[in-house]
Amino acid sequence: MSKIILIIGACGQIGTELTLKLREINGNTNVIAADIREGNKELMQSGPFEFINAIDYDSVLGIITKYHINEVYLMAAMLSATGEKFPAKAWELNMNSLFNVLNIAKEGKIKKVFWPSSIAVFGPTTPKENTPQETIMEPSTVYGISKQAGERWCEYYFNKYNVDVRSIRYPGIISWKANPGGGTTDYAIEIYHEALLKGTYTSFLNKETKLPMMYMDDAIEATIKIMDAKPENIKIRSSYNLAAMSFTPQEIAEEIKKEIPAFQISYQPDFRQEIANSWPKSISDDRAREDWGWNHKFNLEKMSKNMLHNLQVKYNLE
Ligand code: NAD
Repeated sequence: MSKIILIIGACGQIGTELTLKLREINGNTNVIAADIREGNKELMQSGPFEFINAIDYDSVLGIITKYHINEVYLMAAMLSATGEKFPAKAWELNMNSLFNVLNIAKEGKIKKVFWPSSIAVFGPTTPKENTPQETIMEPSTVYGISKQAGERWCEYYFNKYNVDVRSIRYPGIISWKANPGGGTTDYAIEIYHEALLKGTYTSFLNKETKLPMMYMDDAIEATIKIMDAKPENIKIRSSYNLAAMSFTPQEIAEEIKKEIPAFQISYQPDFRQEIANSWPKSISDDRAREDWGWNHKFNLEKMSKNMLHNLQVKYNLE
């Protein structure tokens, strides 16, 4: 049976690149992009698009029925920093969108679900270095609470109803194609844009804040790899730890200075500092590597070169 895929939240930072990659692999017409807003030109022109409201069951089921969808990637969510401003809305979106998709899968109308979790499931009491798969999890943001609850529900739907749901705890994702959506790691994207356009950047996290991060190419590869893995190899049905690199604002600034020697960084921590302080500094992702062959390709140096090159082309600076 050929795959007919629906991506909900396709116009976001990760959804945009995931949709383009899945269209390349499966054919443009087999990958339906859906969101409450329109996306960038490349996304809108490369295949079908539908408006959808992820918290409206009938809206989601309508599109699934219309296109005979068999796989759903649920990327719609309210992220960590925005979630702290609108906690009730974040909870409503993050939980109800997940229940809609899990219930549609439980009814047998779709075969496979991808739903991303986050390093935000961890909290101030979690061991900070090399955080294991199974550990203390007391998240302190509404976003983290919603992701942790979501993980428990994914495992529950797998155990009770045999729903084939797969999940990854993404670290901070760095990319250049679409803008980030209001997360605590957004500084590591903004810094590249401002280094090229202004030569200076004021970081909203202090210079020593080390966080787990990943380049978009790796994140997309992991997402496709876990979805393509044999079901028996997916031994964790809550969500897998996933890692590539960890760095601080000071370290990323040093890396940028290798390409742009005059670049200057300053620090003005805001409310996002507290969120960052509650998260791990580095993650152990042995289980993902053992169970379904995960392997990252980008470290800080390779990512920085790639980001700067792509943004130079985007901004016509070459
Ligand atoms: P984003 O904010 O860039 O994109 C989310 C998309 O969902 C947006 O295009 C938005 O318009 C859409 N959306 C919002 N409400 C909707 C609704 N009611 N119905 C339909 N669409 C709706 O987010 P992202 O960075 O692409 O993240 C995608 C997923 O990955 C989220 O679940 C997020 O929690 C998770 N994640 C992201 C990161 C990261 O660094 N970007 C890290 C960890 C986890």
